[in-house]
Amino acid sequence: MVESSPAARMPRGLRKEKTSVAKDKHRSRRQVFRAIHALIERDGDYCSCCRRPFRNNDVTFGGVMMTGEVAVTGECCAPKIAVRHTIGFYLDAAAVTAARVRYYH
Ligand SMILES: [Zn+2]
Repeated sequence: MVESSPAARMPRGLRKEKTSVAKDKHRSRRQVFRAIHALIERDGDYCSCCRRPFRNNDVTFGGVMMTGEVAVTGECCAPKIAVRHTIGFYLDAAAVTAARVRYYH
């Protein structure tokens, strides 16, 4: 398991060797954020790994997997993300609207 090895946890400047996987995993932050944003716009209603549809108030994790792919996952596949960049919530607009209607009427 590369992700739990001490070398993977060391700060970037202290790491001795760089494998191709590590190079992919540690892309620039801006690049990853842009990819996460595009992924959410394109296919944001499902976990990127297992395709489970997100429910209202699900916690989501965005980052880069060991394969170098950018993913936005739920708690189901959170351990598959090697370098985590974002944590968020999935809000279902219909569920939020329904809750507001119940509250105000
Ligand atoms: Zn999943």
